Amino acid sequence: MGAAGLLLCIAHITGCLLAAGLLGRSALPWSYLALMANFFLVRQSIATPANLLLVAGLIAMPPLLRGPPPDLQALVVIILIFGFGYRFSRRLQGDHTRLELLASLDALTGLPNRRALEKALQQQINGARENRFRQALVVLDIDHFKEVNDRHGHAAGDAALSDLAAILHAELRDNDKVFRFGGEEFVILAETGSREALAGFSERIRNAVFQALNGPDGRITISLGAAMYGGEQHWQDWFSRADAALYRAKSEGRNSFAIADDLP
Ligand code: GH3
Ligand code: MG
Ligand code: MG
Repeated sequence: MGAAGLLLCIAHITGCLLAAGLLGRSALPWSYLALMANFFLVRQSIATPANLLLVAGLIAMPPLLRGPPPDLQALVVIILIFGFGYRFSRRLQGDHTRLELLASLDALTGLPNRRALEKALQQQINGARENRFRQALVVLDIDHFKEVNDRHGHAAGDAALSDLAAILHAELRDNDKVFRFGGEEFVILAETGSREALAGFSERIRNAVFQALNGPDGRITISLGAAMYGGEQHWQDWFSRADAALYRAKSEGRNSFAIADDLP
């Protein structure tokens, strides 16, 4: 809802206070509607103080709620609407946060998914920070994974994917992040100082997987393609360079890595 919601919320408050000032108690029912609507229109952190302001304004107008005689019925209705609206919008916001989190996680591995990756890459590129030129993107893909599925079934393939996710997660430092891009492809966003450091990092990951990832037929290996951020405007261009390097690693025999050339 954003800015439009905020404008409506402000219009509700001023409208209700004006109407109450001009018409007195007969305008009060409008404020019940406004109180409820505000909880739907804007975030709870805005709706709560906005509604408190409206209630304070109504109480400040002497004959309105305080009387004489005090309009206890209206006061009770206002308190109830405020309470229900507050509780409901709290719940709505919690659900919204949970859904957003779920939509960015991969169900099988629990890793952030492609949607989360695209967001993270866009943030990297948009950031004005100098250290974005120390960021590397590593695309990795399981070698001959189709054979695992074909020989031992989808469940065995799924187990290997979960194991790989756990190995990658354990190998990374706090600032690095791994995503499941889709299928048997994963992407790592890592901070490395140079192309040489990136080669060392890629080899470490390759070896860790080589040592630890086993399927029903023995070792399962991965190939990796990596690229340092080169100032690209669109994350897809950065990704393409890493993907082309992955293609090179595959054609060079798999269970290996390749680093994309720096941009001129
Ligand atoms: P390459 O070494 O060239 O990468 O060969 P590959 O067999 O790994 O590559 P290919 O792209 O031919 O096969 C990828 C396979 O990954 C196909 C599909 O059966 C499997 N796969 C993709 N997603 C999943 C998944 O979620 N679970 C399981 N079990 N398999 C998956
Ligand atoms: Mg693949
Ligand atoms: Mg593969």
